[in-house]
Amino acid sequence: TALLEIRNLHVRIAEDGTEILKGLDLTVNAGEVHAIMGPNGSGKSTLSYVLAGKEDYEVTDGEILYRGEDLLDMEPDERAAEGVFLAFQYPVEIPGVAFMTFLKTALNAQRKARGEGELSTPEFMRLVREKSAALNISQDMLKRPVNVGFSGGEKKRSEILQMALLQPRLCVLDETDSGLDIDALRVVSEGVNALRSPERAMIVITHYQRLLDHIVPDIVHVMSDGRIVRTGGKELALELEKSGYAAYTTAA
Ligand code: ADP
Ligand code: MG
Ligand code: MG
Repeated sequence: TALLEIRNLHVRIAEDGTEILKGLDLTVNAGEVHAIMGPNGSGKSTLSYVLAGKEDYEVTDGEILYRGEDLLDMEPDERAAEGVFLAFQYPVEIPGVAFMTFLKTALNAQRKARGEGELSTPEFMRLVREKSAALNISQDMLKRPVNVGFSGGEKKRSEILQMALLQPRLCVLDETDSGLDIDALRVVSEGVNALRSPERAMIVITHYQRLLDHIVPDIVHVMSDGRIVRTGGKELALELEKSGYAAYTTAA
């Protein structure tokens, strides 16, 4: 079975009923790195929110299977415990919760769901120190509240550190439309590349091709108006860089 199988997904905004995803199909197998590209407003971020279980969206048709099980039936924390990791375009700030505490809670919740015991504080500290050193994350940053006042680059480091600790099976990264600076670009691409493995899949959502010079995807999809309208190999990203999204944008 596929790691993730999305069939005919229809999603609307709960508040006003506007349909955003209009029959999206996507199959992701373990070991693959997928890129989802497409014009602004095509529904890319909506897809990542639905995978996360955000409440503002309503699935009206279709299904999402994760390792053969109904993902939509799982609570957000269950999804995380089962190895689904989502990093958003606009990461949430959690004032009052130190980044370190947040990491420990997330890691222990996952271990608990897997029937593993909690890590002791020294074990956890050793693990965090090891992973954060590799990402150039300072002790000071670990003590600060999650994402509060983090720079763009620090937010990316924070995401990649979470991935490195949690070792998810499925990583979905929704990258900012305004592009990443050089430092952030390097952190994300090195982090993603280091975590590539035959057991893991990644979906990198991005408006811009530049990230894909560094994270070479196996499969590239173009999303337009709530559907995946084209799928190809890595060369599709290069083609889009040249031709842009004009062919995929419906006239307003
Ligand atoms: P993308 O990430 O491809 O730019 P989005 O998923 O952010 O696309 O948005 C798709 C469309 O849905 C846009 O027209 C956006 O304005 C609308 N939309 C998404 N989420 C909401 C929401 N919670 N409330 C109102 N409109 C929304
Ligand atoms: Mg957008
Ligand atoms: Mg978006």
